[in-house]
Amino acid sequence: MSAFDDLYAANAKFAKRFKGSGLTGRAARGLAVVTCMDSRIDPLGLLGLNPGDAKILRNAGARVTDDVLRTLVLAVYVLGVDRVLVMPHTDCGMAKVTDSDVHALTRERNVDTRSLEFHTVPDQNEALRHDLIRIRTTPFLPEGMPVAGAIYDVHTGSLAPSEH
Ligand SMILES: [Zn+2]
Repeated sequence: MSAFDDLYAANAKFAKRFKGSGLTGRAARGLAVVTCMDSRIDPLGLLGLNPGDAKILRNAGARVTDDVLRTLVLAVYVLGVDRVLVMPHTDCGMAKVTDSDVHALTRERNVDTRSLEFHTVPDQNEALRHDLIRIRTTPFLPEGMPVAGAIYDVHTGSLAPSEH
């Protein structure tokens, strides 16, 4: 027994039913979505998308980190993306802790995380504004590419487009 047996068993069933879709790795709807790792978010479902339609980039807090920018550059120039939606969500765990809180929690288990930046979110609106500016002003992405922000409400399923 391994901690992953349930997943391998489920996949065996999935693979039996799986029909090759003929999809390529390009984003069929030209979309990249940056969202949170929160387990309540179904990015494809909530946006009416199917596998093959979009690149989904997930991390804690839907933050636009250097690695997200790196991935967006590849998504745009190699994999057919021509628009980006940054989609944080309500009730996000990253808005409930500070980096110092996380360092204190890990220290209780004798782990020193002070060399990591967690990009916690003291002000979600401000963080989204900052992250959209990061994408819009990076010299590595096409000027004028549509970039939008919207906050997903995990309790109602609604998406609220941001003013930024
Ligand atoms: Zn979150």
